[in-house]
Amino acid sequence: RPGASGAGIQAAALQTLLTSSPKPLVPKEDLVFGHTFTDHMLAVEWTARDGWHRPQIKPYGPLQLDPSCSVFHYAFECFEGLKAYRDAQGKIRLFRPDMNMARMNDSAARLYLPQFDGAEMIECIKELLRVDQRWVPDGRGYSLYLRPTLIATENTLGVHRANSALLYVIMSPCGPYFRTGFKAVSLYCDETNVRAWPGGVGNRKLGANYAPSIGPQAEAESKGYQQVLWTIGKDHELMEVGTMNMFVYWRNEQGELELVTPPLDGTILPGVTRASILELARGWGQFKVSERTISMTQVAKASNEGRLLEMFGAGTACVVTPVRCVHFRGTDYRVPLDPANPDSQAGPVTARIYETLLAIQYGDTPSKWSILQ
Ligand code: PMP
Repeated sequence: RPGASGAGIQAAALQTLLTSSPKPLVPKEDLVFGHTFTDHMLAVEWTARDGWHRPQIKPYGPLQLDPSCSVFHYAFECFEGLKAYRDAQGKIRLFRPDMNMARMNDSAARLYLPQFDGAEMIECIKELLRVDQRWVPDGRGYSLYLRPTLIATENTLGVHRANSALLYVIMSPCGPYFRTGFKAVSLYCDETNVRAWPGGVGNRKLGANYAPSIGPQAEAESKGYQQVLWTIGKDHELMEVGTMNMFVYWRNEQGELELVTPPLDGTILPGVTRASILELARGWGQFKVSERTISMTQVAKASNEGRLLEMFGAGTACVVTPVRCVHFRGTDYRVPLDPANPDSQAGPVTARIYETLLAIQYGDTPSKWSILQ
């Protein structure tokens, strides 16, 4: 198995080359997601012959790659997304980075790219955070987004296993997803395009899953909706919303209050936020929590019968994004959000999940999920 032989990644061998021209910080009010990058990056090369090379922190800058490089031709890459937060004491915290490293190794394995020791990689990332700590903005909703990326770097058009690869991490300061509190979004249930399918790679974070989603997203926007609701099958079983996992809070056919999310059947990305929400909600014990198939047909019926209560997407970027309506077969199905407050942009369960997770991420609530840098 690639990465299993040869040297592993060793944080103790990390070399640091500091930039001689640090950039000015962008005022945090002006941050646009994914546009600003810190002064440094982490890079670790891998070759089939020697395994992982010495990890390096070096000035952020372009990679030099040959036009034949396999990453450009066969989407030979996978990535991750996680955030670092500044707590009330000014310390920097990561949220469950072990889960991102494990998911990245699963993605790498699917591409037959080298795997690595997640704990060693987290130590390297902590050092990168130490070097670029001034880039972690403070304040609720502000964070530093980390993008670990693994690419095949062999200069060949041959479709075969990679003999060389590069693992790198870049970091981008970002502001709150919703600047003025929650803003519930409208979804367009796409009946034509399918994001993932049984036996496919929807449960892996491969770049190849994302480029084909741009067209459907643009079409949904042109019809006046903000995000695509991805479904599969003749009953339109819910999969994901945009690049988030999907949750429905409803009174089910048996009259029980239930929070439902589609099961990890191989077509759904195993979100860190998803797993955290399931664990929290199960701990509360106040309603049924299920990982099971739920179709758009069922959601539409529940909406017609007044049983649909809340819907939201969940992911690192936004924590939760409340949904206010879903377009399906010519009808806009409304989600009441908060029946007690018609002007509200999020229902009570969505809001509680959001507040609980934020308090953990920013270190206000002590939790083993929040890792100090
Ligand atoms: N689904 C997809 C397709 C995604 O790209 C993401 C973002 N990684 C998620 C769900 C949410 O995952 P996480 O909670 O780990 O950010």
